[in-house]
Amino acid sequence: MKNADVLPDQVPTILLESKLFHGVDLTAIEIELRESQIQSIEAGQVLLDPKHINTHIYLVLKGELMVCLEPRVVNPLVRLGVGDCVGELSIIDASPPSAYVVSAEQTHMLVISKAVLWRMLALQQVMALNLLHVLTHRIRENNVVLLGSLELQRQYRNKAETDTLTGLHNRAWFEEVFPKQLELCERTGQHASLLMVDIDHFKKVNDQYGHPCGDEALRHIGSLLRRNLRSTDLCARYGGEEMIILMPGTEISQGQLTADRLRESIANTPLHLQDGRQLVLQVSGGLAQWQAGTALTDLIRAADNALYEAKEGGRNQISVSPLQSTIEFN
Ligand code: GH3
Ligand code: MG
Ligand code: MG
Repeated sequence: MKNADVLPDQVPTILLESKLFHGVDLTAIEIELRESQIQSIEAGQVLLDPKHINTHIYLVLKGELMVCLEPRVVNPLVRLGVGDCVGELSIIDASPPSAYVVSAEQTHMLVISKAVLWRMLALQQVMALNLLHVLTHRIRENNVVLLGSLELQRQYRNKAETDTLTGLHNRAWFEEVFPKQLELCERTGQHASLLMVDIDHFKKVNDQYGHPCGDEALRHIGSLLRRNLRSTDLCARYGGEEMIILMPGTEISQGQLTADRLRESIANTPLHLQDGRQLVLQVSGGLAQWQAGTALTDLIRAADNALYEAKEGGRNQISVSPLQSTIEFN
């Protein structure tokens, strides 16, 4: 950073149009302004960084600064143009800045030291109010950036948890969420039922109608499952054409009604193919009742065995697992 004797005539106008000096009597703080230097930095230079304590406030007189997460001009979080200032948060709480401030082009700034700023505030109270406005604006700006990145995170997370074909949750989501839900049932003393659903003769669907129609059939079933389940039920694509559903707060008798309703709804809602043909799909299901202390793997094994029974029994039906043995916690 070097001293620059640039724009001295325009400085008062820029200051009075800035948020920090708005309405300030500049003659009352003339000495302090003289003590503040006009300095310039070249494009790409780092003005502030999170490793160094900042002791000055910088008001842009010409050029542009950018607040970035890296020490170079990349994906700026905030852009600071003529009249904007930076450094105010870090000089107030005497902490290093939380991000990098990098110049986008050659930039001239009025550099005011902390001590001089305090004197200015004492002499011109309107400046203290201005500083509060600047800080409030900065906090709001930070919140917007934060909310934006939270939203992005949410979208990435959503993508990572969703099966792209069916729109149902995927296996990774199942592995994270199902054990947590069972822990919650354990703590709250709720019942739960687990249902495994498998499409009947799905290989034939692919063989007769082609793989794209098979995909369409999977989407169709995914949508019927979503439509027929409660918002508290957890449903995921477990494998190729197998779905897994955990119904918290549901006793086996109620779970059986739900499972049969799902099965019937699938069997009674043919998929209309683009060429006008109708594809009737059927599913089989295996239902198991969760009991406090039963591990998820044991519960899945029980539901899987019941599913096998349903297939053996002729398909398009739901089988219920006999009560599982439980592992008691003590
Ligand atoms: P069953 O009634 O005994 O369940 O017979 P099935 O033919 O459905 O059983 P199987 O598990 O042997 O076949 C499942 C088929 O599902 C085989 C596989 O090609 C198909 N499949 C798995 N994932 C997908 C997918 O994403 N898209 C399509 N189109 N087919 C899939
Ligand atoms: Mg299968
Ligand atoms: Mg199958």
